[in-house]
Order: sequence, then C-alpha cells, then structure tokens
Amino acid sequence: MANLFPIITIKSSKPGPEGLIIAGVHGDEYEPILAVRQLINELKGKIGKGSLTLVPVVNKGAFLAGSRLGLDGLDLARTCPGKKVGSITEQVAHEISKLIRKADFLIDMHTGGNLFEISPLSGYMMHPNSEVLDTQRAMAEAFNLPIIWGTSPDLEGRTLSVARDENVPAIYTEYRGGGYYPDGIGDLVDGCKNVLAYFGMFPSVKGDSKVTLKIEDNQPGSGHLQEMYPAPEEGVFVVTVELGQEVRQNEVLGYLCDFYGEKKIEVHTLQAGRIFLIRAVPMAKKGDALAGILSAGNSNYYEKIG
Ligand SMILES: [Zn+2]
Repeated sequence: MANLFPIITIKSSKPGPEGLIIAGVHGDEYEPILAVRQLINELKGKIGKGSLTLVPVVNKGAFLAGSRLGLDGLDLARTCPGKKVGSITEQVAHEISKLIRKADFLIDMHTGGNLFEISPLSGYMMHPNSEVLDTQRAMAEAFNLPIIWGTSPDLEGRTLSVARDENVPAIYTEYRGGGYYPDGIGDLVDGCKNVLAYFGMFPSVKGDSKVTLKIEDNQPGSGHLQEMYPAPEEGVFVVTVELGQEVRQNEVLGYLCDFYGEKKIEVHTLQAGRIFLIRAVPMAKKGDALAGILSAGNSNYYEKIG
C-alpha cells in the first residue's frame, strides 16, 4: 500500500530515543506543516543519537481541501486509533496510531485553523503515571511557548489519547490560526529542537524563557476547546476581547446578533482569567465555541509569570 501520508525518518549511528514529530492532523493548520518541512531540511544528518520520524502532513486529503476535516467528513483528532479497513480518516488514524505506539516521545503541532485564534501554548494530558507526566511537563517547558497547559487525560480519539494508553510521553502545541502567520514557524522549529535537546538528540537553541503562564486543570473535558463558551443560538458573532487579555467575571466577551440586526445577545465571561481562544470568524452555529479563558478558579495549579 502506498503511504497514506508523507513520512521521513532521520537516523543517527548511535542508539537513542525514537522521536516522532507530526503536523497537519487538521488540514487547515499551516504553520506546523511548514515547520516540519523546515525541520526535515535542517536536521538531516544532524541527529546526535536515536532517530527522528517526521510527518509534515498527516491528513493530506484535508490539507488539499483546505479543511480541518478529512474527505469523509471525519475529524482525525476524534478518530484515533482508527481502523485498518475503513474510511480514509479511519485508515490514516490507524497508521499514525501505529507510529505513535512505537515512538519514545511525540510532538503533535496544531493551530486554531480557519475558525479560531489561539494563544501559543504547549499542552499535555495529566497522565496518571507520574514519570510520563514529568517528562511531558519537561517537554512542554523545553518547547518554550508562552503558555504551558496540562489538562484532564479523559479525552478520547486524539493522537495524545493513543500516546497516553501506551505511556508514550506526548505534547501538542497550538499557535494562533485564523489566517496564516509565517513568523510563527521559527518558534515551532526552535521548540522542536529544544525538545530534541531535552532528549540529548540535538544541541539546545533555547534562549530566555518565554513562558508567561503555567496551568494544570484536571477537571473532566478541560482540554476540549470546541466546547468552550458555546453559542446559545446561530448568528453573527462579534468578539470584543483580545487574545491574552485578562478579564474579570461577568465581563462582555462578545455578542451574537441575528441576521436582521434586531436581536443582540451579550456573551459574558463565567470566570476571571486570561483569554486564550477566540473565534476568528463571525459565523456561529448553535453550540459552536466562541471563546476560551484560562482561569485560576478551577485549576489545580496556576502560576502567572508575565
Ligand atoms: Zn488542530
């Protein structure tokens, strides 16, 4: 069978960890795809030990369609571990899950895609195994994006769920979205190199820490972005807060209008905290996420550094 996605492995002559870096699980998330392409060029022949497998675009059909979803309408990040015989997204999920199970660590890079803008962050699941959890914390710290976010391990269907079940240390990253920002590619490339440095596979390129917020929240579903601030009904959404803004409880974060401009529903913050997710388009169906806030109130750990 032809490869379902482009893939390359860079091997060192010395034994060591087998790393896996992937992008394009969602087809409309472009900066990570370009970052992996750049890593392939810059790391060839330069891995100090072990091996590194890179997949620049896991969901090629979705990428070519400019869509989050595969050509069968499925979200790859809800379909893992997939099926050997199934629709295209199920097959891709099966293949990528096999690679994840064999890996010693995983980095899965995302953005907010067409619909969302997200503050740059490194995330991980609050793994029940403390050794895995500590490695994930160290990987997220090494990646050096402004927010480090640990969330409940209960979510299913993700690449990180497959890694969790196999005790493979794994992080994911988010980096803006709602457009295409080539200036972000360098941060992703450096982040991956610094995680490789943590595993002793490449020299560190880390400068000063960029981390401004560390948060761990073990509440069920805490990492599920698509369920945050669901639109009470369909309409035109106008956001009135900005990414990174600190808000109080019961502030207006935007409003939802009907198509005639007659009805206007204000959407209020339910807790104080930092805005880290906003809807990047005015289109909102009933239940669509409108915004997200990282809040000290419901967290196990919350440290504001900047
Ligand atoms: Zn994504």
